[in-house]
Amino acid sequence: MQFEGYGLMDIRIITEERELNQLSAMAAKSRFSLGRVYPEEECPVRTCFQRDRDRVIHSKAFRRLMYKTQAFIYPEGDHFRTRLTHTLEVSQIARTISRALQLNEDLTEAIALGHDLGHIPFGHIGEHDLNRVVPGGFRHNEQSVRIVERLKKNGRGLNLAAEVRDEILNHRGAGKPMTAEGKVVQLSDKIAYVNHDIDDALRTGKLKEEDLPKDCTALLGHKVTARIDFLVKDVIKTSLEEGKIKMSSAAKEALYELRGFMFKNIYTNPEVVSEHKSFETYLSRIYFYYDKNFGSIPQDYLHIYGENELKERIICDYIAGMTDRFVVKLYEKLRL
Ligand code: MG
Repeated sequence: MQFEGYGLMDIRIITEERELNQLSAMAAKSRFSLGRVYPEEECPVRTCFQRDRDRVIHSKAFRRLMYKTQAFIYPEGDHFRTRLTHTLEVSQIARTISRALQLNEDLTEAIALGHDLGHIPFGHIGEHDLNRVVPGGFRHNEQSVRIVERLKKNGRGLNLAAEVRDEILNHRGAGKPMTAEGKVVQLSDKIAYVNHDIDDALRTGKLKEEDLPKDCTALLGHKVTARIDFLVKDVIKTSLEEGKIKMSSAAKEALYELRGFMFKNIYTNPEVVSEHKSFETYLSRIYFYYDKNFGSIPQDYLHIYGENELKERIICDYIAGMTDRFVVKLYEKLRL
């Protein structure tokens, strides 16, 4: 590529044109993005999706993922996944699929890196705990969108493109992402967490490879890496054959069976649950504490809110942003 004689502005335009010429018909094209809530001047070098990926990485919420639980709370050992390493694994899987299908890799990466920004301390135990006490409930994907839309940059959010925002909300379960890239992240999230949670469970010694349902491992493989490889190739092959982002029904069935197995034998296993039991009500107790002592929330946190913001929502945002270790220290300090 010859850049002599081009201005910086041409670099983004060349990239946008390359997308138009080289990406598949299914791919989202940055030139036709539905745009941002607050219009901004374009970057001369990066497309809007590249820029969003960078915004997510440079956010404080992204850095805090390092100290948030994936499946095992405060595990004994440094090799267990955290919410950050889960996010990176989802991003790697989603980018492999995206590149193979000639989708927009920058958009895929932006969505994947942002998809769990709203995760609260203690993973699903924390989500369940907060969900039962906050009026209107608590769902992490909605919180992720609140973080990117509202809570950053003095209340204006990260001002991400509509495609990235929408798919951060819809990556979960029944959500229907608006682009092929969003769908890829949705599938990659499941491929990543089912398999790496098995890997972490093996590490705890509470699970053995031979305990896994035989029909699943016969199809998907007998090692974590083999299963991820199988599923990634399955999504690529099925999507090429059917012209839409899909996993084959046989692979999907096996993956869901493994997921069900993990729920029954690990996530709700009495031994694992009892180890996590002490954390079960930390967040709700902290919630009630701030409900009574609203003035204890730091002033520099409150300045992003307008007068109409509900007190419950502010407390919820504050708690959701905390890391596991911050909660443990706070809980001890407040003697709850
Ligand atoms: Mg996830």
